[in-house]
Amino acid sequence: MVCLVSNVPAFNLTEQFPQIQDEVNAAVLAVLASGGYIGGATVANFEADFARYVGTELCVACNSGTDALYLALRALGVGPGDEVIVPPFTFIATTETVSAVGAVPVFVDVEADTFNLDLAAVERAIGPRTKAIIPVHLFGQPVDMDRLMTIAQAHNLLVIEDCAQATGAKWGDRRVGSIGHVGCFSFYPTKNLGACGDGGAMTVNDAGLAADLRMLREHGQRQRYYHEAIGVNSRLDAIQAAILQIKLRSLDTWNQQRTAIAQRYQAGLAGLPGLKLPQAIAGGTSVWNQYTVQVGTGDGPELRDRLRNELQAQGIGTAIYYPLPLHRQAVYASLGYGAGSLPVSERLGHQVLSLPMFPELAIEQQERAIGAIKEVLTNALQTA
Ligand SMILES: *Cc1c(COP(=O)(O)O)cnc(C)c1O
Repeated sequence: MVCLVSNVPAFNLTEQFPQIQDEVNAAVLAVLASGGYIGGATVANFEADFARYVGTELCVACNSGTDALYLALRALGVGPGDEVIVPPFTFIATTETVSAVGAVPVFVDVEADTFNLDLAAVERAIGPRTKAIIPVHLFGQPVDMDRLMTIAQAHNLLVIEDCAQATGAKWGDRRVGSIGHVGCFSFYPTKNLGACGDGGAMTVNDAGLAADLRMLREHGQRQRYYHEAIGVNSRLDAIQAAILQIKLRSLDTWNQQRTAIAQRYQAGLAGLPGLKLPQAIAGGTSVWNQYTVQVGTGDGPELRDRLRNELQAQGIGTAIYYPLPLHRQAVYASLGYGAGSLPVSERLGHQVLSLPMFPELAIEQQERAIGAIKEVLTNALQTA
């Protein structure tokens, strides 16, 4: 029997709640008592705080990170006939929304060191139909936004930042979500700033664009019951907004805790055979939504899967983000990307492993995970 105290989960939300419980309970009860459950001052206050935090003029909250991307694409006029450059090594929401507005995702490979878009390949992929680029700040690490914006401006392209995994990350001294035309955020519970349910937001500097996002968010109306576009219902609840407003005040502390954990992994796992550690790129500040290593000496998943299974047997949780890159998914078969067409993403699918990472991960838990990884890899490569 595995003893529960020695288990190390990949992620755990139950230790964060006690830190904010009193404030959250009071705020939620106040919303419940107020009778104002949709919209109103609670949501507007959170939007103002979040815009200030990200460093934009305005924020429009919505129901999820997926909706944020969808609404951004719609408001910027991306649609049928347009191509949008996206990475294949990301969550499906990044590209699902491109397809949902009727545009075509054009997959460009990522870099093995950063997991983010290869910007030289982005430049080569730009064609006459290219309308926008969606850089994803994957696992908390920002894309080189100076270089990306230079490319986008040279070709007159829109930039929609997918910040779902990177709330608080910076490129230079600017936070992600304040650099492109729209920043899209998710408040799914496992994100750096997580709600107690679904939630999302878009950050912008353009008041006209913010008004269009609000219009589309609420049934295509600016004035109630007068509809000028086919919109959606994608509001953030007042209860979630109240919780997020409280949690936002601790976000920098939690992100610093994640960074300290990442630094302990870097030191504890350095030099191990068969293991490649994530690289932070100069100029950026990652917020470590995930700490993702690459395991293996060839191209296959054998060593990664062996490590994952043996860790699991010892009560240490890990996760695989993402096993099959999006250009190889059944849903995109008609786009015709063959096996080997985007080799870095395909290899990463076989080799990535995300280690336990959440702000409250205890040093002893982390040391247990590091010790177990060392043991498994050393044994595996001796018997190989
Ligand atoms: C989580 C995530 C999303 C979608 O966010 P939801 O709030 O779950 O809809 C989009 N892009 C990336 C990269 C994500 O990780």
